[in-house]
Amino acid sequence: MTRFASLGTGGGPDVWVRSRWVFNCYVFPTASDGAPLVIDCGLPSHAHQILRQFSPERATVVATHTHTDHVGGIPELSAIAPAVALPARAEAFARGEAPGGPRLATVASIAPVLRSQAFELSAVVEAGRATAVGFGLRGPYASPSPSPVYLADGPFDLADGWEAIATPGHTDDSTCLYHAGSRTLCSGDAVLTVDNRAWFNPERWDDAATGATEDRLRGLRVDRLLPGHGRPVFGTDLLATALSATERPTRRRWSRCTAARPDR
Ligand SMILES: [Zn+2]
Repeated sequence: MTRFASLGTGGGPDVWVRSRWVFNCYVFPTASDGAPLVIDCGLPSHAHQILRQFSPERATVVATHTHTDHVGGIPELSAIAPAVALPARAEAFARGEAPGGPRLATVASIAPVLRSQAFELSAVVEAGRATAVGFGLRGPYASPSPSPVYLADGPFDLADGWEAIATPGHTDDSTCLYHAGSRTLCSGDAVLTVDNRAWFNPERWDDAATGATEDRLRGLRVDRLLPGHGRPVFGTDLLATALSATERPTRRRWSRCTAARPDR
């Protein structure tokens, strides 16, 4: 069982990551009033490792969207963690609105991202076998928590200095979490990374919303980019040089940015 590993503080709140293939889960151990802020607990094994390494009984658990691979570990934590926060639009899904998200076949469009992290068959098997919560894998939408709070666009009071930014396009409920003080963006699947470069997700449900999200996010200063899939990248103004959702990465390496490598 791989552990969460620290990416360091980089002038902001300490962040730890655990990736199983492309399934990234982030923990900021003290960001929520001295308690852990967990972002995208997508697999049950992420949850099990959080139980070993952090203090889940004080944790705030947040999802960037309710695709199954971003919320699949939440049921394991929701009985213990005092707060589970989902994007505002997921409240409509829970009331019966059909969630909008890309067809599974479109995952081929992010092949360079899928190749950028070490493949783990067991992670794919686990994602397929996990209790079906959220949406996208099978069945209708199922809330990953019985009593979530919903994150509207703007600052949220569960973690000081953080705000939610509605970023629809990949899905209707896609939401980024931004910490302005350290220019840290947890981008979920709105922005991925490839070859140490940001890439607005070409795997999209709504072209117009994807374009509007891209315009909005390009104005945001981001020096620590923590994507839902792809390697975390630290650098300077990372979204200013991001690939558009309509572009494809070339093999060229981006030397001005560095992949943030965990301390093992
Ligand atoms: Zn997704």
